[in-house]
Amino acid sequence: MSSATASLYSDGGIELRRPASPLASGALEIRVLQPGQDEKIHERIYLVLQNLANYWRSPGPNAAPLARAFFCLERRDAVHSKIMRQVIPYPSGGLWGYLRQIQAVWNANVPNFMSLASSRLLGQQDSLEAALRKNLPVNEETAPSGSDPFCNDAQLAKQQVFEGRHVRVLFNFKPLSPLDFLIVTKDHCETFDKVKQEAFVEAMRIGSSLSEHYKGRYPISYLNHANGKAAGQTVFHWHLHVTMAAGKVDELWGSLKVIGKMLGLVKPLSDRALEQCIDGLQKELSDLINTHGQPSTLKKSN
Ligand SMILES: [Zn+2]
Repeated sequence: MSSATASLYSDGGIELRRPASPLASGALEIRVLQPGQDEKIHERIYLVLQNLANYWRSPGPNAAPLARAFFCLERRDAVHSKIMRQVIPYPSGGLWGYLRQIQAVWNANVPNFMSLASSRLLGQQDSLEAALRKNLPVNEETAPSGSDPFCNDAQLAKQQVFEGRHVRVLFNFKPLSPLDFLIVTKDHCETFDKVKQEAFVEAMRIGSSLSEHYKGRYPISYLNHANGKAAGQTVFHWHLHVTMAAGKVDELWGSLKVIGKMLGLVKPLSDRALEQCIDGLQKELSDLINTHGQPSTLKKSN
């Protein structure tokens, strides 16, 4: 395939293209054209992702949505100074959805390990290109609080490391690695399409700062979010996972744990272990916390 057809959209700052090594069929890659030059990169990524999510919700040939869910993954490798960003659509759920999740996780570790992935697009290229140029209305709605753990103050108080203006930074109580954060919106938003731009931008900035902070000991980090059950979303309140790995073995082990988690095999930390972990993180990250927000204002109930 020529590079001319690989590119689907560009706004001058970022480009959406067919990846050379897709994590799963239909995956698209987001490339930053001038790394480090653009303060507004996450705003641009937000707009492209909203257009893409909107396009995938549109009906395909059999009247069902083109995709019922999608997964965004950013893998940062500080040793090789590489960032890989891909968005993976999930046309179907059930067993196919699970298999696709496993395929994507493995392909992120070992490119083309499961080389069944193709750069075939979902839908027609010209309608996708037109959809990417839309100006969608700005999302202003705020949903009422939900019944999920990220709307539950007692649960948040146990897991929260610190909070920013629009998001909270939590520690995952079922960690996949020694450093496994969750950045959740303060507003209840089920999936990315309901997340406001400022909340997404803040989540990505904090996620990037966390991976920068730990890159000496943990040079590999994953920033990812699942939207919809088929893509592996289990808590229906939007959250960005920020998971670090010390090296390749650690990364492979984390991937096995992802599969273990799907099977219900990953054990939660005890309340005591979680509390100690959060105390340590608050000390370690005090500079980063001052830059991005404030210490937790939630009261612990125990
Ligand atoms: Zn919620």
